[in-house]
Amino acid sequence: MKKHIETICVQGGYTPSNGEPRQIPIIQSTTFKYDTSEDMGKLFDLEASGYFYTRLQNPTNDYVAKKLAELEGGTAGMLTSSGQAANFFSIFNIATCGDHIVSSANIYGGTFNLFSVTMKKMGIDFTFISPDSTEEEIESAMRPNTKAVFGETVANPSLAVLDIELFAKVAHRHGVPLIIDNTFATPVNCRPIEWGADIVTHSTTKYIDGHGVSVGGAIIDGGKFDWMAHADKFPGLCTPDDSYHGITYATKFGKEGAFITKATAQLMRDFGAIQSPQHAFYINLGLESLHVRMARHVENGRKVAEFLKNHPLVEWITYPDLEGDKYYDLAKKYCPNGTCGVISFGVKGGRKKTEEFMKNLRVIAIETHVADARSCCLHPANATHRQMTDDELVAAGITPDLVRVSIGLESADDLIADIAQALEATR
Ligand SMILES: *Cc1c(COP(=O)(O)O)cnc(C)c1O
Repeated sequence: MKKHIETICVQGGYTPSNGEPRQIPIIQSTTFKYDTSEDMGKLFDLEASGYFYTRLQNPTNDYVAKKLAELEGGTAGMLTSSGQAANFFSIFNIATCGDHIVSSANIYGGTFNLFSVTMKKMGIDFTFISPDSTEEEIESAMRPNTKAVFGETVANPSLAVLDIELFAKVAHRHGVPLIIDNTFATPVNCRPIEWGADIVTHSTTKYIDGHGVSVGGAIIDGGKFDWMAHADKFPGLCTPDDSYHGITYATKFGKEGAFITKATAQLMRDFGAIQSPQHAFYINLGLESLHVRMARHVENGRKVAEFLKNHPLVEWITYPDLEGDKYYDLAKKYCPNGTCGVISFGVKGGRKKTEEFMKNLRVIAIETHVADARSCCLHPANATHRQMTDDELVAAGITPDLVRVSIGLESADDLIADIAQALEATR
């Protein structure tokens, strides 16, 4: 029976049999017991599936990864300790020293740093292109050694909506996968695999957790990319792995399982960026209400955006669900039920008036976080980007008056009243 997203949010990933716990058990154990060394040896050779050490796999994590895979329409999934680890693994699983990646330039700052500084030191080269690139512009960024194309469904913090179908088309023409960070839209509002993406990543720290309690990440494989058809590009998946007695992931686990099995067996084994079973339990609680919460984040976001749009003390506003927004048409296509609850806008009067506005907020708190139940806001010019001059900020696409506000689950009327009084205080 094909289930709707709401049912998968609540019940996906774990089906107890007769007399078993209704809620997913937290298997708080680092290790697992076996009767014979032969039994365990088979696990180490990837000849049998099962658990032996929680750094590689744990049943609680697997229930939740399975739910996420079902939500995204993928064939396999894994949890990681953070969104950073998920994005790192998603690329490093198929690219190595001497390889090249094409990435949207409008991505989360932490990911940009990971790609442009840390992974560059590992010998992986990135070309950053506008998320608004035409087919020809994406084409011209591709190289013979390009191994993947990367972008965010709804970018943090610019809120650019990616034309996933177009990026997938160019990636596939070059025989490489499209990797999409779907953190802001969540699988409730967009399922990138349905639009041609091959691998989906998440910072579960944001809406999926939704309550600001646990840092985590996830990777989901769509199971459609034919690694063997491009075996020369992906030797890690298509040639024998000596560290597992010469198994070849793409032949042994097929399109459906090769990517996640390799990322677990090699990268998790070696880097150890595992999510704790306790955190997996928390994000499962978040997933159980994700569909209800996302609808409210969007509803509240739209009300606040409409209010800001018409306010005389607001210089400009970016919110993809707002008619007239640059990304309105793409948002309608990829996120017909709305994108998320994050809005960017400028306070009239520049940096100083923006500081005054933020100081006067009473319900909305100043935080570096986004995407949880409590509304919060950030002034990048005074926080994440405070080393930059006003001119440098503008060059980076961040105006000195930019406020990023993450609309939570409080009463929209209270949020609007709070913003209204804080704006009045800047007069
Ligand atoms: C926060 C975020 C990340 C990083 O996730 P962490 O869980 O903080 O490591 C990656 N991508 C996007 C879009 C994010 O918002």
